[in-house]
Amino acid sequence: MPVTIPEPQFDELYREIVLDHYRRPRNRGELDDHTARLEGMNPVCGDEIQLDLKIEDGRVAEIAFSGQGCSISQASASMMTEQVKGKTTGEAWHVLEAFERMMKEEAEPTAELGDLEALQGVAKFPVRVKCALLAWKVLEDGLKGAAAAK
Ligand code: ZN
Repeated sequence: MPVTIPEPQFDELYREIVLDHYRRPRNRGELDDHTARLEGMNPVCGDEIQLDLKIEDGRVAEIAFSGQGCSISQASASMMTEQVKGKTTGEAWHVLEAFERMMKEEAEPTAELGDLEALQGVAKFPVRVKCALLAWKVLEDGLKGAAAAK
């Protein structure tokens, strides 16, 4: 028997945004000239993310992800790449922290989160928070690695 995982009830607009990113993921694929390639898994749900980063002059010059899993994990990854692409690593940290606050502390979304505000309702479902945070944990590893390489 598959484990039943509670599904957050999104309002219609948010549901559209999440499904749009799931069906038409942004920045999906691999980067031949990545500076870091990282992977993460969420075994509870079976989500997998591979993230390629190209960090140049302290900036997330290119970012691409691939993987498989539930709509929340993949949509969150797609939205994440959109919000951090082109930003400095410091700015990317800010977005990461704002998203973690929204997920873990049910903080109100900030402007820098863009479409990610659609995932606000997920915060009430701890099991699903793991899905939403998967890509961000991988990003966090990548940003830490870039900082260490300086
Ligand atoms: Zn999941």
